[in-house]
Amino acid sequence: MKFLYLLPIAFYLLPITFGCQPRVLHKDKQVMMGTFVEVLSPDKDAAAIVFSEIRRVELLLSKYNPESEISRLNKTGKLKASPEIFFILKECERFWKLSAGAFDVSVGPLVDLWGFTTKEYYCPKEAGIREALRLTGFNNIIFNNKDNMIKFKVRGMRIDLGAIAKGYAVDCAVTKLREKGIKSCLINSGGQIHCLGDKFGEPWRVAIKEPRSNRAADGLKLIDKAVSTSGDYEQFFIKGNKRYHHIINPHTGYPADSGILSVTVIADTGLIADALSTSIFILGKVEGLKMAKKIQGVDVRIIEENPD
Ligand code: FAD
Ligand code: MG
Repeated sequence: MKFLYLLPIAFYLLPITFGCQPRVLHKDKQVMMGTFVEVLSPDKDAAAIVFSEIRRVELLLSKYNPESEISRLNKTGKLKASPEIFFILKECERFWKLSAGAFDVSVGPLVDLWGFTTKEYYCPKEAGIREALRLTGFNNIIFNNKDNMIKFKVRGMRIDLGAIAKGYAVDCAVTKLREKGIKSCLINSGGQIHCLGDKFGEPWRVAIKEPRSNRAADGLKLIDKAVSTSGDYEQFFIKGNKRYHHIINPHTGYPADSGILSVTVIADTGLIADALSTSIFILGKVEGLKMAKKIQGVDVRIIEENPD
């Protein structure tokens, strides 16, 4: 679970009266995609719209749902994909190329091997890592643009959209809110945040958690922006004084070890923020910022283990 603080003022439900109109923020939350999805909006209908759209996307993309398209692809190694899945996997290919292979959604076997899927954490042996690496590599996914067929070249490959689908799901929810004419809403899905519009004329205020304490490390004032943080402090275990976390370097098979504790990306869409934060976390500061410069309109905050 990731903690991006919504500063206290964002929480008040009490009517804040300026002039005659009381200004109330309606707040609701549900457990979805393995985390809390929280919705704040002056519009009382916003939460139901967000939850319904995120549920729809979850059913499509979740590897935890055996009926999802992704689970069917993982089970059989081939899929005539819906346009939505085809689009998302082509975006995964884009980030795989931009990140020189660091962002690679075919890491499913490695994420499973380290126990991050079942939360039964485990330090695998070299042989196990080698075998899981044999099943990893976006280059082993074949796309047929004519009929949306997707195929795995290697039997046993498994896709894990954990690093991009939350951002995409929140984007879809924001699109639905806009279609319904809702102009002000904050969605927080386990640290994947979207600030739609402003809050009674002011920017939404979001703080970034300090990775090793419960303090706020930085405060952001945002209007119509997506924010995503990737860090080594949400899903991890300690063994023999070493921290093992859920963001795996697909080149080594081990949790990324780039000297970064957390990366926060502010972008126009959640998909970009989500995929880029994970990519930078794995690439490290120098290569990660070179990658960020190739993408329009993003802002990056990096918290390093030993800031130089
Ligand atoms: P990010 O940094 O955004 O991504 C890290 C995650 O991406 C890892 O957890 C792994 O899944 C994957 N990953 C690791 N290394 C790489 C890499 N090199 N390239 C690409 N991806 C990588 N969790 C549950 O416990 N139960 C659920 O039922 C559940 N359902 C989910 C349904 C959906 C649709 C989604 C999107 C997620 C769901 N999750 C669930 C959470 C998921 O398992 C991840 O924990 C979560 O998405 C991590 O997001 P993050 O922002 O913390 O990390
Ligand atoms: Mg991410």
